[in-house]
Amino acid sequence: MKRLFINIGKLIQVEQGDLVQRRCGKEMSSLGIIENGYLLTDDDLISDFGMMSQLTDERLKCMMPDESVDVCGRMVLPTFCDSHTHLVYAGSREIEFFDKLKGLSYSEIAARGGGILNSAKLLHEAAEDDLLKQALLRAREIVSFGTGAVEIKSGYGLSLEDELKMLRVARRIGEFTPLTVKTTFLGAHAVPARYTGRREEYVDEIISEMIPVIATEELADYIDVFTEEGFFSVEDTDRILNAGMKYGLRPKVHANQMSFSGGVQVGVKYNAISVDHLEYTGEEEFRVLKESETMATLLPGATQFLEMDYAPAREMIDYGLPVAIATNYNPGSCPSGDMRYMMFLGALKMKMTPNELINATTINGAYAMGLEETHGTIAVGKKANFLITAPIPSIEFIPYAYTSSWIDKIYLNGRLWQNL
Ligand SMILES: [Zn+2]
Repeated sequence: MKRLFINIGKLIQVEQGDLVQRRCGKEMSSLGIIENGYLLTDDDLISDFGMMSQLTDERLKCMMPDESVDVCGRMVLPTFCDSHTHLVYAGSREIEFFDKLKGLSYSEIAARGGGILNSAKLLHEAAEDDLLKQALLRAREIVSFGTGAVEIKSGYGLSLEDELKMLRVARRIGEFTPLTVKTTFLGAHAVPARYTGRREEYVDEIISEMIPVIATEELADYIDVFTEEGFFSVEDTDRILNAGMKYGLRPKVHANQMSFSGGVQVGVKYNAISVDHLEYTGEEEFRVLKESETMATLLPGATQFLEMDYAPAREMIDYGLPVAIATNYNPGSCPSGDMRYMMFLGALKMKMTPNELINATTINGAYAMGLEETHGTIAVGKKANFLITAPIPSIEFIPYAYTSSWIDKIYLNGRLWQNL
């Protein structure tokens, strides 16, 4: 099925010739734009694009489109690539949110049914199909917000059986929706209650029992550790990432969220595809990242929810680093999977420009999931995943009007998405 989209006011984030893997530093300001363009899709792929003036009768005859769609001057851009979520979970934690605002301590909240360990309890009690049903609602919701590819982590299981359950559900989201899904094993999200005071023994279980099974069943693309005081140390992280590497699992690390934890350094040591959070980063982390192939992924939704200081995105970009933005969609610190809102926070709180924000939420997010060859830009041979905007005045309107429904139509794998 060939579909031709004509009269595109601005075709945004196009690439011709050699494709970039990611954009770093100053390159994050560049954005390929075709004014008054066309786009041709062939089944699930982009097969051609260019300026309307190049669309001669002869060319049209060669294309032989089955269907023609007049975009009437609106804009077209790639769907978002959200490279960090925990969207498979049971229940929600809004009561905890208000308890925290009332001034309750972490232990008081845990006693009332909050915290990661309580998410683990709810997940343990949920039947797999019920968990899938709950997660599918969130997955369909993020598609309606413009996301086309997503990474989903385990980490509320904290036992082999429940981690497997989460990862199977995450994989099934890719079968039940048109989302491209990458999965990450995050057994080291928190120390489960049965190992209280014996953290290292839980790390042993992750290494000797969980990783071999999860790798053999091919349920995870990546491995992750929450490297932070009170969670897992740099030494624990080193052991887990080393074990994962032996099974072909490339790391992504929850790093430097609450302190200068050393998470960035240990992640880069194992060639992590991304290190995420990064509220606490300085010259030393910048230097290590600059010499690496690791993406710096920022999660401003969680920073806002936890009322912390934001990651130094401006300094990172000025230093020449690549920056991606993701939602961290999860029940405890960011109950939103809306990349449009993350763009707004990136602008307001991290002083990123519209072009930098588009690169951070498309090609750099794709890179942080190993999807840069198929997603993240409009290029021949890539997935036909794109948004058609409502009539909007400018590209700047996108990160500015964060509650406007500026997305009119969503195409995933070359097909118009309808939320049925
Ligand atoms: Zn996270």
